[in-house]
Amino acid sequence: MSTTLITSDVVLCLDASDHIYKEGYLVIENERIIEIGYQKDLDSRRKFDQTVALGPRLVMPGLVNAHTHTPMTLFRGHVEGHTLFTLDGWFNTIRVLELKIDPDLISPGVALSCAEMIRTGTTTFVDQYFWMDRIYPEVRQSGLRAVLAYGIVELGKEEARKREVAAASAFLESLQGDPLLTGWLGPHAFFVDNSEAAMALEKELAQKYHTGFHTHFATGQEENDYCREHYGTTAIPQLEKMGFLEFPIIAAHSIGIPVEDLPIVANKPFTVCFAPSSGMRNAAGIAPLDKIREAGVNVALGTDNVTNNNSYDMFKEMALTGKVMALLKLDAAAIPTRYILDMATMGGARAIGKEKEIGSLEAGKKADLIALDLNEIGWAPFGGQDFYAALVYAVSGYHVRDVMVNGRWLYRNSQYQTLDYLKVRRELEAKHDELMRKIKE
Ligand SMILES: [Zn+2]
Repeated sequence: MSTTLITSDVVLCLDASDHIYKEGYLVIENERIIEIGYQKDLDSRRKFDQTVALGPRLVMPGLVNAHTHTPMTLFRGHVEGHTLFTLDGWFNTIRVLELKIDPDLISPGVALSCAEMIRTGTTTFVDQYFWMDRIYPEVRQSGLRAVLAYGIVELGKEEARKREVAAASAFLESLQGDPLLTGWLGPHAFFVDNSEAAMALEKELAQKYHTGFHTHFATGQEENDYCREHYGTTAIPQLEKMGFLEFPIIAAHSIGIPVEDLPIVANKPFTVCFAPSSGMRNAAGIAPLDKIREAGVNVALGTDNVTNNNSYDMFKEMALTGKVMALLKLDAAAIPTRYILDMATMGGARAIGKEKEIGSLEAGKKADLIALDLNEIGWAPFGGQDFYAALVYAVSGYHVRDVMVNGRWLYRNSQYQTLDYLKVRRELEAKHDELMRKIKE
């Protein structure tokens, strides 16, 4: 058993009671927080294996990025001025690159993605892509917590369906019992590129492995149009009829989600992942966040891939959430800052069924936390802005100085602990050059 005492000028818990401890402390035992409080109440005679005095830092829960595609860092900057949300746009930009990819090009993109997420305060992310067998070793090396969804596109073709479902099954098996990584299924989009036959097999797998679905949903009206034509209803009632709503679902984007269908998913393990940068940069729009919130549907926040974002900084994503909703609704109070912070923490934790383990700082939860530098710009005047507003609008992921996941430091005093950033960067640059050579051939 190992105990660590962490003291900090501010400990902001983001729990249901909104505890904020100025001159606060946490005690970590192995991978869990066992105590949080004010330093003045701490018995000075108590002994700890390690003491970490952070001083002018704000400690808060690590952020949960609920929608990513980590290998796509390799393509950053290659789609400027194009949308990936239309078949044409995607095919002429990303698909031509993906067709040249071999599995050896996957790892450096994933490693760089993990480095950028750690650097900007994400401690858990939810991924979806192909080549999961190449992705998870990199994520494991980084020390991040993750839900990794095995990407499936089968376009109604039986051969592809059999191959992909068998590979997904082997992947889910391989992550059984992993302390930090959880395997999910990642049908790219229900009804659109995953047929009903594929969905039936995916549901069987979800049942067998007690797992969830991380999918793109309602980026336009394709699912609803398909379901209206084939079943005479929209996609959500059809998913309910097919038994999918009993499983955790992260519905990334949900731009065209019909407001009248929201009550159906309000009491289900269904999460809308709001991804405003991606929706805006792809000229596709954003989900009706105010209506989704009013309906009581769980909402998480995601950056999507950095090909079309182009950043993993969840603080930027939080600021954008508040600003774009205020603009769209012409209401400065459209979405409260505390709710935006919830989207980036507990909303993501609930999405993956880990709300009792992560998402807030509470005794008994896993020690997933980040510390921001209070001496950096943006915080002053300290008495003039509340911490929630400062976190959403005034600071950024570059204020993060320390990151802990499961009781282990991944970033301490601005130093990576589990990876060598410049080495990862060099590897990515080399693989990118290799990809460019292949494109020219
Ligand atoms: Zn996506």
